[in-house]
Amino acid sequence: MEIGKSKAKVYVETDTKITFKDVAGVDEARFEQQEVVRFLRDPRAYCRLGARASKGILLAGPPGTGKTLLARAVAGEAGVPFFSISGSEFVEMFVGVGAARVRDLFEQARKAAPCIIFIDELDALGRSRTVGGYDEKGQTLNQLLAELDGFDPSSGFILLAATNRPEVLDPALLRLGRFDRQVLVDRPNRSGRADILKLHARNIRLAPRVNLEDVAGMTIGFTGADLANLVNEVAIIATRRNALEVTFADFTTAIERIVAGLEKKRCVLSDEERQRVAYHEIGHALVAASLPGVDPVLKVSIIPRGVGALGYTMQRPTEDHFLLADSDLHNRIAVLMGGRAAEALVFGNASTGAADDLQRATSIALMMVTRYGMAEATGLRTYAPSPQSFLGMQGIDRPNASDATIREIDLAARDIVAAAYDTALSILKASRAVLDQGAEMLLAKETITTDDFLPLRRAGDAGSADHREPERSAH
Ligand code: ADP
Ligand code: MG
Ligand code: ZN
Repeated sequence: MEIGKSKAKVYVETDTKITFKDVAGVDEARFEQQEVVRFLRDPRAYCRLGARASKGILLAGPPGTGKTLLARAVAGEAGVPFFSISGSEFVEMFVGVGAARVRDLFEQARKAAPCIIFIDELDALGRSRTVGGYDEKGQTLNQLLAELDGFDPSSGFILLAATNRPEVLDPALLRLGRFDRQVLVDRPNRSGRADILKLHARNIRLAPRVNLEDVAGMTIGFTGADLANLVNEVAIIATRRNALEVTFADFTTAIERIVAGLEKKRCVLSDEERQRVAYHEIGHALVAASLPGVDPVLKVSIIPRGVGALGYTMQRPTEDHFLLADSDLHNRIAVLMGGRAAEALVFGNASTGAADDLQRATSIALMMVTRYGMAEATGLRTYAPSPQSFLGMQGIDRPNASDATIREIDLAARDIVAAAYDTALSILKASRAVLDQGAEMLLAKETITTDDFLPLRRAGDAGSADHREPERSAH
């Protein structure tokens, strides 16, 4: 019976070695991997210095952004064997086989250490277990969890995994000591796209006037795989023309063709929409930068994330959170309102883009009223049916109250959100110049960080009113 034997493909990269040179435009993710390489090259030295290597590192990001490529590059850089297996291979297996295969995989790796185990499409395997289902996938997942807990990083192997859908993973996988390090491999920004284009265009002959920086400017939202595909297309187009060189017109033809295909799959924004999104996002950032007690904004981006892939904020659940004062919660809601307020201020109307913000704001406001006794009208008693039901930002159960009181709860929550919206709007009005400059910068660079943004704010802020205290209307 060889059924349980792991079919993990083993690549021992030698001549055709993939290294970091083959990966472009994802500098942050690559930087994170450099430490892993140092560890794999000499695990004992690394551990002797007291550094603790992560056991499992999860690469998360949209399809085609180079997660698999990056994992192989880590192995190539470190010169170690690379065991790769895909979560989807486990899906259609007999009961017990998947678990046996996982066990075997780790055994092989132990013998080959130092090495890398790479589980691609982890979501196919590690999907949140549904209630009552003790099925094949559940068993395989349990085996994986057991192996993760059982191995000691100083044994010299590292587990990498990749997923497009971190939000569906079983939370048990992400706990400390398991896949406790997550690296976002995001769609590249403009300069990242230029780097990727240069990398893939190495072997094609470009006409002298083709500027890949300009091509990068025309390909917002493209992933590394889309760009590799684009270079391939232009080469084909030029060949069909019997041309010796690829021209800029070849690029525009191919981009139009690819974008038409992509439009069906994911959102490609018009210029007007991009402008609105830029103001919306800067609105959030500017309000956040102006109020105490809110999580700092590290990065603002207008690169489309694709349909249904909005959940990419890879934040650790805030279990370690201190107490929040009612003013902190007001401020958080104000930050959520910043997007909508900026749209209203600049465009004079609203869009559907704030739906998610409004929903989250509503959840916080309802918690303030029903759990924390923070609204005068409803007083200090609580109305939450159970402590858990308001914890997540998702389902709002019916409060434990009479119909008349439910109406008061609704009104109180509405007032809280309205007051926070006023706070956001007045901050944005007072710093309108910064809002405009920020949006302009964001449109040009697509992704900006606090370092780009804060100097703007300081320069533009001189003399503007102090908004540290949120305004509160009576409720
Ligand atoms: P993922 O695993 O994230 O879906 P892949 O690593 O399979 O994406 O990428 C597919 C191909 O697209 C790669 O083999 C490479 O040719 C190209 N590619 C993707 N991202 C990059 C990148 N950041 N730099 C260079 N090439 C890339
Ligand atoms: Mg992949
Ligand atoms: Zn928003």
